[in-house]
Amino acid sequence: LGNLIIVASEQRALTLVGCYFYYIGMDLILLALIAFSKEYCRVQNGKQQRVPVLVYLILAADLVQMALNPVFGHAFTLQEITVYNAPYYLMVPLWGQVFHRIACYGVLGLIMLSYFMLMIRMPKISRERFTVIFLSMLAGSLWQTFYIFSRTPIDRSMIGFALFGVMIFYFSIYYHPVRLLDRLLANIVSDLKVAVFLFGPIGKCIWANEPARKLSGCVGEDYDGAGAALREHFGVLEELPEKTNVEFSLGAGEDARYYKLDRSSIFDENGKKLGFYVNVINCTEEKKKILQELYAAKHDALTGLYTKEYLFQKIRERLQRHELKDYFIAYIDVRNFKIVNDVFGKDFGDQALMQIADWIRKYSDETCIYGRMSGDSFGSCLPKKSFIPHVVEQDLAGFVVKRGSAVHRLVIHIGFCDIGDEDQDVSILFDRAHLALSSIKDDFKTHVAFYDRKLRERVRWNQEISAQLGDAILKNEIFPYLQPIADREGRIVGAEALARWIHPTHGFMPPGNFIPLFEENGMIADLDRHIWRAACRILADWKETHPELFLSVNVSPRDFYLTDVLTDITGMVEEYAVDPKKLRIEVTETSMMNDTDDRMRILDEFRRRGFILEMDDFGSGYSSLNMLKDMPVDVLKIDMKFLGRSKDESRANTIVKNVIRLSEDLGIMSLTEGVETMDQFHMLAEMGCELFQGYYFAKPVPLAEFEQMLISG
Ligand code: C2E
Ligand code: CA
Ligand code: CA
Repeated sequence: LGNLIIVASEQRALTLVGCYFYYIGMDLILLALIAFSKEYCRVQNGKQQRVPVLVYLILAADLVQMALNPVFGHAFTLQEITVYNAPYYLMVPLWGQVFHRIACYGVLGLIMLSYFMLMIRMPKISRERFTVIFLSMLAGSLWQTFYIFSRTPIDRSMIGFALFGVMIFYFSIYYHPVRLLDRLLANIVSDLKVAVFLFGPIGKCIWANEPARKLSGCVGEDYDGAGAALREHFGVLEELPEKTNVEFSLGAGEDARYYKLDRSSIFDENGKKLGFYVNVINCTEEKKKILQELYAAKHDALTGLYTKEYLFQKIRERLQRHELKDYFIAYIDVRNFKIVNDVFGKDFGDQALMQIADWIRKYSDETCIYGRMSGDSFGSCLPKKSFIPHVVEQDLAGFVVKRGSAVHRLVIHIGFCDIGDEDQDVSILFDRAHLALSSIKDDFKTHVAFYDRKLRERVRWNQEISAQLGDAILKNEIFPYLQPIADREGRIVGAEALARWIHPTHGFMPPGNFIPLFEENGMIADLDRHIWRAACRILADWKETHPELFLSVNVSPRDFYLTDVLTDITGMVEEYAVDPKKLRIEVTETSMMNDTDDRMRILDEFRRRGFILEMDDFGSGYSSLNMLKDMPVDVLKIDMKFLGRSKDESRANTIVKNVIRLSEDLGIMSLTEGVETMDQFHMLAEMGCELFQGYYFAKPVPLAEFEQMLISG
């Protein structure tokens, strides 16, 4: 404005006004420029530029001294001249004006210097913004300088200032450095881990980033080759669905590589297709981890076989598709595996399991499904035709595990069950196979069993009988028959109480029909307590009529686990006020097999309380004669069945004779049961046996009949 007034004025006073506007305005503009530059640097550079206080002081001093020119006239005067035939007032500088120029140029120089420093320090991308401003200021000030030194009356450099002002305004506010964005994007794409291939409109690869070049094995800038390699691996790229991940795998097994591809088309603003790009992500590691986890979830870590869950799932799928006609379900189990682990150690146990797994693998083809069911059991689903009984039996009969010097024979049992057409439930099928398996009683001869009608019937029977026990006891359907026990003269001195069940629908039932079942399912203690109590009741009745007779009751080995035998029996004897001597306790050798010390203590306590203990079925179990000397028993029951079953009769007799002699030496009374003939009786009596029981005297009979027998002699 000042400059405009000066140029246009033809009067002295007006020119003076213009001059003051101009000079004082210059100071103000410089102050504004400082403020702008500070802000500009802060925005562009992120740093606050510090401005020395001296700069402000100089500008302030200049402002004041220029404002005082009307008073002192030290800065400039006006000289009237004629330009273009009109009067023009030319400024004549004095020392104040010189100070003004030095001050203004000095400050401007400092500002430009700071722009220049920023310009060279900035990254190339942002440099141009500072350069534009710097060059604008440089051009403006050169133009101005030219005016000053050329002493041209009219100052046109202001036009330049205006122009540069507009330029700075544009560059600092509206200008977006397009090249910056381009570079930025290119850098990002180049640095991506994802391989990016860019294809032109006719499907030619025109660019590939570093990972893409590496992936395609392309050398230098052979983008064409990169594109061709990509097509060779992944096929026709144009047919890949737009913007969807497609998985590819290359190679197989350990060397397999997995990739995710996606393709996106590029269009211009008019929707014309410019080309497309393909991203390839190498997801091998991630995929392998997932595959490993999947494998681990489905496979047993030790044997590599399917887990139970996965085995069931696999079988279930094929059941649902009705693909298992003429197939077996097999349940394979190692007997006493705990002992193997215990005796030979876990490593040996592991090896045994792996050996079994290998054996199963050997007999399985791709139609079989098999897996590990639990620690020591396996499951398989196999076509019936691939089961060859004698081969399996032969293998199992000689199944040994060797490790170093340790050799152990494994007892492996297999239960089989047919898969029917309507069968859907895998666990029921395995339950049946397991039932078949558990029907193999610790037998070293058979290793294989089938779930058949007989077994099914037995299972049903067991369920029915077990459900009825409680009721049968309450209704006294179960009670003891008595079998007489005689002395050397053939006189009845006592009896053994043997359970009988008179069943409302099945009629008379010998204990063989239910005792083994109750021993298995743990209901035997209920039954035994019932018989013990019945025996006590009979003894209580006999106190008057037959005080000399005793009764023997059976205690099952399982009773020791299921109940407190000592407390139970002692309690009953007290309840019925029976002499403990009259209630003889029959235990078997098997009772002593486990927790021997504990059992011995219980037996000792029985004797201490006045009971008489009988060792039942001597010779049937595992005991040795050696064990006999430690056994706290009073009577040894020798079963003819066990000791006399040898074909060589004289040999059997020798054994019986010696057992009787041994018990005599140990001060234990001998009782032979299963005596069926008079010859046997006489022979045994001759051998020194003291008590006898058997069909020769009488079968087990109901109480009334037994009492009748006593009367008739
Ligand atoms: P056990 O204790 O050895 O009983 C003797 C078995 O031999 C009885 O069979 C008896 O009838 C049979 N017996 C007796 N004399 C002869 C003979 O001369 N020849 C032959 N061949 N057999 C003879 P039972 O009554 O069928 O009992 C079988 C087994 O059932 C018993 O064997 C016993 O172990 C068990 N038992 C019977 N009652 C009970 C009971 O109340 N509780 C428990 N826990 N077990 C019982
Ligand atoms: Ca007995
Ligand atoms: Ca017996």
